[in-house]
Amino acid sequence: MDEKKKPYGPASRAIHAGEPRIKYEDSITTPIFQTSTFTFHNSRDIEDYTKKKKERFEYGRYGNPTELIAQRRLADLEGAEDSVVFSSGMMAITTTILSLVRSGDHIVITDDSYKKTLEFCKSYLKRFGIECTIVPFGDYDILENAIKKNTRFIFSESPTNPYLNVFDLVLLKKIADRHGIMTLIDSTIATPINQRPLEFGIDLVTHSATKYLSGHNDILAGVVLGRKELIAPIRDLHKSMGGLIDAHCCYLLLRGLKTFPLRMERMNSSALEVARYLEGHPAVERVYYPFLESHQHHHIAKEQMTGGGCIITFDLKGDLADANRFLDSLEMIYIAPSFGGAESLITHPASVSYYDYSCEERYELGITDTLFRLAVGLEDTVDIIADLEHALAVVTN
Ligand SMILES: *Cc1c(COP(=O)(O)O)cnc(C)c1O
Repeated sequence: MDEKKKPYGPASRAIHAGEPRIKYEDSITTPIFQTSTFTFHNSRDIEDYTKKKKERFEYGRYGNPTELIAQRRLADLEGAEDSVVFSSGMMAITTTILSLVRSGDHIVITDDSYKKTLEFCKSYLKRFGIECTIVPFGDYDILENAIKKNTRFIFSESPTNPYLNVFDLVLLKKIADRHGIMTLIDSTIATPINQRPLEFGIDLVTHSATKYLSGHNDILAGVVLGRKELIAPIRDLHKSMGGLIDAHCCYLLLRGLKTFPLRMERMNSSALEVARYLEGHPAVERVYYPFLESHQHHHIAKEQMTGGGCIITFDLKGDLADANRFLDSLEMIYIAPSFGGAESLITHPASVSYYDYSCEERYELGITDTLFRLAVGLEDTVDIIADLEHALAVVTN
């Protein structure tokens, strides 16, 4: 693109960014390079490559052309210099963390983070002599007091699951700067359309691309994004860990990305409408959605985000039997984990994510018997509301 021209908007970049205009055999789409290795033409070709006179691919674990385009496009959308794409969101998180820490280090993570991320930091890192302090989300004094001389980074999600708590990124950056430590944000629930943590000076951003970015509930993928010098060691470790995403998955990710800004626009508006509907329903005790005025972090959400996203968490009136009756009455909305795909999904955290917790433990975490997390999909908003209306009637009766 001409340097002087106005940069393309996100919808155009989601379609064109990171790929050459003229592609292999004039294909309009990025080809799927379904290959595990790449051939050298001759000895001269090898020499050009090893002496870094020529950039090219060598072996599948070290990179693939379809993967490279996906990395460039995601970096463009997030406003990052570079990115690494992984086989899952967890692979992105664990590889990133492992590349940053060494024995004797300390890390700080907020308690409202993804269960598997917390588990990894609490249990696995400990085995390698890396200490982890889990701090309550939203208490910035406790967070700052948890920082020690050997603290390597602060990790948090924003917004969080299931209550969609929003981290004040300006405050986080100030605290981190006072102590000269790095900041990592799992921005999966926000996406680069609704929030760009790098613009707040956050060092590294991760996403589970399984969710909104691919958007069709058909692949698992993850990504880490940031400055070139921070991404380089993560890419190096990735080459040893081997948490590769294959070319076909990258193609599906690129395909999904073409409609990503469009899907986000629709999900932001549809979910807000559904959230307002739920808030006004007599069978609903409470609704958590960052773009509702009633949300405890509404003001921060409005400052640092441009949309509330597709997730709505709500508590029904009644008991576990009511919750089950409601769930069993849904006809279109699927009962399944995940979010950000075309299909509307609902989960009942008490019986799925927290099935192995005691009631007391669960209640302490605020996971009641009647709590639901709804991921609004791309169906007609009236149909989503009609499905809820029908199922909620069972609770009211
Ligand atoms: C889903 C999710 C993950 C894990 O991603 P996978 O692609 O399932 O490995 C991590 N963080 C958040 C916030 C998620 O929603």
